[in-house]
Amino acid sequence: MIRFDKVVKQFGDHVVLDHLDFEVARGDRVTLIGPSGSGKTTILRLLMTLEKVNDGVVWVEGEPLSHQRKGERLVPASEKYLRTMRKRIGMVFQQFNLFPNMTVVENITEAPIHVLGQSKESAVRRARELLELVGLAEKENAHPNQLSGGQQQRVAIARALAMDPDILLLDEVTSALDPELVADVLDVLRQIARDTDITMLIVTHEMKFAKDVSNRVLMFDKGKIVEEGTPEQIFTAPEHERTSRFLKAVL
Ligand code: ADP
Repeated sequence: MIRFDKVVKQFGDHVVLDHLDFEVARGDRVTLIGPSGSGKTTILRLLMTLEKVNDGVVWVEGEPLSHQRKGERLVPASEKYLRTMRKRIGMVFQQFNLFPNMTVVENITEAPIHVLGQSKESAVRRARELLELVGLAEKENAHPNQLSGGQQQRVAIARALAMDPDILLLDEVTSALDPELVADVLDVLRQIARDTDITMLIVTHEMKFAKDVSNRVLMFDKGKIVEEGTPEQIFTAPEHERTSRFLKAVL
């Protein structure tokens, strides 16, 4: 579903991802862990095409994401090509990023109507199902500023799902929330992991959530994968000293 092939990303002289190789299979739930600055968010931003690689290729469902095919060659991707590829991928950010001037239901239906060309009726019908799923059916006409952070984040999750993505990227989605609001958001994500086959890439400091939801954990340090394994392996018997040290600090 996703393949990073010798991906290099640098900002100025600072090499953030250093010839990074990894693959994610369809339906995988992969958690990326590692110290701050190790490149986790950059990986998600490359997948969202919010950043461009300096070298190497990112592949999504067998198609190059960072480039497009021109006969046998790969050339830098055009904006139009990127727009098509982007539709396959949904992202939820730490800071919800809802449109403040729109109601909840308008936030969720905006892209399905304007990007996917769905009719308003069918987009609203789907939005209502998704609001039911995230436990906010009664809030469809509220504005974001009338909701708690946890509720806003659940709307952001519904908005990402409304595009029917093959891949869902979750970037520290509970970090900006008061502790008592975290549980509801994680419950919704657990349910999505249980009930759908969406491929998920998760950056989180909630190690219990990572254990519950993911089937693979990748430990990063300085733009490289230090270790990978199942949550049981990584959390209970890490092989690498860098992983043990990191887990001691966060658990
Ligand atoms: P993580 O998510 O693991 O904390 P990031 O991917 O956010 O790490 O960042 C990796 C490194 O890249 C950090 O040192 C960060 O300062 C740097 N970085 C990220 N984005 C930019 C940018 N737009 N300009 C310059 N440096 C950046």
